[in-house]
Amino acid sequence: MSTSSSHPRISSNTEGKCKGKGGRPQNEIWTYFTQGDRDLEGHASATCNYCQHKYTRGNVVILQGHIANHCMEAPISLVRKYQESLEESNTPRGKKRKGTRDQVYLDEYHDSNKPLPQGRVDRIDRALIKFFVCCGVSFRVVESPFFIDMLKELNSAYNLPSRDVLTNRILERELGYVNSRVSKEIESVGNLTMGT
Ligand SMILES: [Zn+2]
Repeated sequence: MSTSSSHPRISSNTEGKCKGKGGRPQNEIWTYFTQGDRDLEGHASATCNYCQHKYTRGNVVILQGHIANHCMEAPISLVRKYQESLEESNTPRGKKRKGTRDQVYLDEYHDSNKPLPQGRVDRIDRALIKFFVCCGVSFRVVESPFFIDMLKELNSAYNLPSRDVLTNRILERELGYVNSRVSKEIESVGNLTMGT
């Protein structure tokens, strides 16, 4: 199962609608969205089949986040399913494979020029989003050269996410995690009340 969906390359002659083209297997989330036109970078727009909310860029994590965190019309079983899958992808040992990033190095906890293992990147991403949200810091700061400088001093192997990735993908994932935990908490409290 492939969860990667970003395409950094710009292909100049991608035109109009070329639905489902390319060998990449489609993520299951697309069952719940209608794919529209693609932009210059090959991202298709996506319209939620339940509430008709439209995203100009149908990023898999963002779409999963929509079902898990925002959609008011999706069936609750589906909402829970995606809350849980976002929660899982948020725990260290996430199953994402991207290039050499998931390789584990002996010196993974030390500063080095080698790419960080994905689990480590995920942890830093999470710490970053918590800091931004809980301290009310503007997401713009993530692209400030001074902020980048500071993080590079702490760990030069960590590549900061773009503002877009931070405010969408990472935030959605964290939100899914929190919502899933809240639902579980409420369920367990419900059981407790019934038991006493
Ligand atoms: Zn929706």
